[in-house]
Amino acid sequence: MTTVETKVRQVQHFINGNYEASSDQQTFEVKNPATQEVIAVVSEATEQDVEKVCEVAREAFENGPWRTMTVAERCAKIRRMAEIILERKEEIARLEASDVGKPYSHAVAGEVPRAAHNLKFFADFMEQQGGETYPMEDAYINYTRYEPVGVAGLITPWNAPFMLTTWKLGPCLAAGNTAVIKPAEMTPLSVSLLGEIAKEAGIPDGVVNIIHGKGSVVGTAITKNTDIDLISFTGSTATGKAIMRNGADSLKKFAFELGGKAANIIFEDADLDKAVPVSIQAAFLNSGQVCLAGSRILVQRSILDTFIEKYKAAAEALVVGDPQVAETKMGPLVSEEHFEKVKSYLEIAKEEGATLITGGSTPELAPHLKEGYYLQPTIYLHENPKARICQEEIFGPVVTIIPFDTEEEALQIANDTQYGLNGVVWTENLKRAHRISHGVRAGTIWVNCWFVRDLRAPFGGFKKSGIGREGGHHSLEFFSEAKNICIALN
Ligand code: NAD
Repeated sequence: MTTVETKVRQVQHFINGNYEASSDQQTFEVKNPATQEVIAVVSEATEQDVEKVCEVAREAFENGPWRTMTVAERCAKIRRMAEIILERKEEIARLEASDVGKPYSHAVAGEVPRAAHNLKFFADFMEQQGGETYPMEDAYINYTRYEPVGVAGLITPWNAPFMLTTWKLGPCLAAGNTAVIKPAEMTPLSVSLLGEIAKEAGIPDGVVNIIHGKGSVVGTAITKNTDIDLISFTGSTATGKAIMRNGADSLKKFAFELGGKAANIIFEDADLDKAVPVSIQAAFLNSGQVCLAGSRILVQRSILDTFIEKYKAAAEALVVGDPQVAETKMGPLVSEEHFEKVKSYLEIAKEEGATLITGGSTPELAPHLKEGYYLQPTIYLHENPKARICQEEIFGPVVTIIPFDTEEEALQIANDTQYGLNGVVWTENLKRAHRISHGVRAGTIWVNCWFVRDLRAPFGGFKKSGIGREGGHHSLEFFSEAKNICIALN
């Protein structure tokens, strides 16, 4: 099987329950990054189109049935969306593989079922929610209601489009809001299906809307729009700052999940049989285009040579190739622009005097993939944690091993970054595991594992990696307004 899609899809905005073109009929093309073939022609919204979709979502919020229907009824429809996603799992995963370039095997077994779970989880969770009561002797009683905020702008990135959009849409809908979704322009295909899935599940028209186009135009217009009450954004730190500036005048509520440059710390007592394969995944899953990637691998010097030998062999054994083929572990990078950006770090690494352990060029590829944006799994060794390759989010299959001697030094290097999304610790020493977990300034620390998620647990970043938390009650609180009602009892 090849990645060749014979059909070029037409992807339109989903507004008020219908798919429609842009008012000026403008479109843009989307390519398969494994082959550079055009796989979709997508409607490109104007600012007027954004205004219209925001008005539709506002009207659905104010006057539609969504926010006043019972929680049970609302959540049943959200759960139905989850079921439809599972019924269409293979199709969505194929789309994700041809749009993002991620291995189909990962999309079908991991991200698409997780997307369904995101919706089901928040529907179930919402139904369990209560409120608080605060009696004031026998004179008054306070009780809390959690009400929807209004119209949510959900702006999502290209690296896990379907999974990350549902991660926001689940709590947004469960709490009773309406949504304007803006998927990344590079990868809009899977997210565009959420319109028809919502409709089939019985979600009323106007509650789920999807609008396509450039971040600079459509994202900015959503951010400035006064019908939008909150923005839940996942993407780069630079865009997060722009959204905050553009949303200031309309005083929106913001939740930001931003970039990362996680330290993956390997102590000399680590179980390397586990640490090596998981650290390979942490570096090269989705070609390293993962915010949680463990891209700075801090290795205690006493095991440096052993670790490098095992890690290099495991990286070289990764099957790089066609995302649609079952054996493929790593596909291409998402776009030409991103490919060029990632490759520029190979030059930077050379200039900075990093030692190349493996990779750094194009892998062996089947003929139909010759035009794809492929790079080998690439590993550097660098003694200087201040080097750009150790500080900047490369967001590709390029990682750096940084040696350290003591626990103090490991912590100092781990925290010497503007980011604080996550960290990883490998040790068999329980006390050390706790010490390092407490010392690393990041929102999630994984000890002897990576990427394990309980959706009840908080997720988000310290420092420039984000504002706010998602997961469990954290998401529901963001998508809700708490109202206190105080009643005189006499
Ligand atoms: P990006 O910031 O370029 O784009 C993300 C989204 O924002 C896209 O839909 C884009 O069109 C839109 N956008 C761009 N400019 C905008 C503007 N001025 N106003 C409003 N919207 C705008 O990010 P990306 O390149 O798509 O994604 C990669 C980044 O996302 C990485 O930094 C990665 O670490 C981060 N990320 C973070 C998490 C997390 O959970 N913390 C998860 C995945 C990705």
